[in-house]
Amino acid sequence: MKKKTIPIDTAFPRPDAYGAISMPVYHTAAYEFRTAKDMADAFCGRVIAPDYSRMLNPTVMHYENQVKALTNASNVFAFSSGMAAITNALLSVVETGKNIVTSNHLFGNTVGLMRNTLGRLGVETRMVNLLDPATVENAIDEQTACLFLEIVTNPQMEVADLEALSLLARKHGVPLIADTTIIPFTQFSAKALGVDIEVVSSTKYISGGATSLGGLVIDYGSYPEVGVRIRTELVFNVGSYMSPHPAYMQSLGLETLDARYRVQASNALTLARALRDVPQIKKVNYVGLEDNPFFSLAQKQFGPTAGAMLTIDLEDKRSCFRFIDRLKLVRRATNLFDNKTLAIHPYSTIFGPFSGSQKREMDVRDTTVRISVGLEDVEDVLADIVQALSEHS
Ligand SMILES: *Cc1c(COP(=O)(O)O)cnc(C)c1O
Repeated sequence: MKKKTIPIDTAFPRPDAYGAISMPVYHTAAYEFRTAKDMADAFCGRVIAPDYSRMLNPTVMHYENQVKALTNASNVFAFSSGMAAITNALLSVVETGKNIVTSNHLFGNTVGLMRNTLGRLGVETRMVNLLDPATVENAIDEQTACLFLEIVTNPQMEVADLEALSLLARKHGVPLIADTTIIPFTQFSAKALGVDIEVVSSTKYISGGATSLGGLVIDYGSYPEVGVRIRTELVFNVGSYMSPHPAYMQSLGLETLDARYRVQASNALTLARALRDVPQIKKVNYVGLEDNPFFSLAQKQFGPTAGAMLTIDLEDKRSCFRFIDRLKLVRRATNLFDNKTLAIHPYSTIFGPFSGSQKREMDVRDTTVRISVGLEDVEDVLADIVQALSEHS
């Protein structure tokens, strides 16, 4: 079955009392059992039946099943946010004295989680240049708990060579954990590229227009203790499992994901090409442009589309602020892959808490504006960007 069809076709338990055509939202904290034995079986995991919604909920399970059918994963876990998913994935592999090998091109809160939160618990984070496999290999040792990366970094737009890095990870027996938020899993198979555990902020493409926060851990089963630890320890003790209402909205989001993504990725490519001819723009960074240094690698790994996020570089920070202030259609907002086109100055917002030298190390520049391209007619988006850059607006 084609990926477009899978989330629409994924079955849920029948008969439903009313023949509901969508999975109902089970807005309940607890579940009543027929007998004491049934209750004991559920609590001890001898049967998979929800007993309390911190651990299992039918609506969330349906959402997880859709993702499982789309990715052929061994286990899928839905959490209350992308950060909750990343936290649970990392907690399933780290312990005091272990280290994480990763890049310094990472989502800001992921850096904070590793350096501050896990750092305080005695987990070391080693940030290396993932474009240089020898350096990565040197950083891996007996205490390495995982290799962690983002498939396309934001806002630098660096693409990881997943096949090369997964070979390294396998050679040293460490799981490769990849944050794939930037290109949806309907477009490529992370498993086929050697990823062991995929983490996704489903707040982005999947939620279907910024409807809700959510995160997914997609476990391909190469390190069986990961799934066991999340299912039998972390969802119980950490308490960040997804709630039923966001699961319902994100289930619907999955049904329209492919259709929305195609339009957004096509709009992004059209926009990136057109923006290259705008004189006030010094540089357009989009991995779908043929002359982008990561173009071939991105096409090979992720297929013909390259996501819906691009960046532009202007003269200086003042020009960026002036441009953002003059936008009329494009929204001044964070987030990615809303139905609406969004613009943000990452240097002074998302990376605001970092020092100038930290931002230099991370290649975050004050001349960059990040644009997440939405579902509007792309001509309208282009016209708004051009007017906001013009001297006369
Ligand atoms: C947004 C984002 C996150 C965090 O997800 P939340 O749902 O906001 O917690 C993590 N990684 C990447 C690449 C993101 O874009």
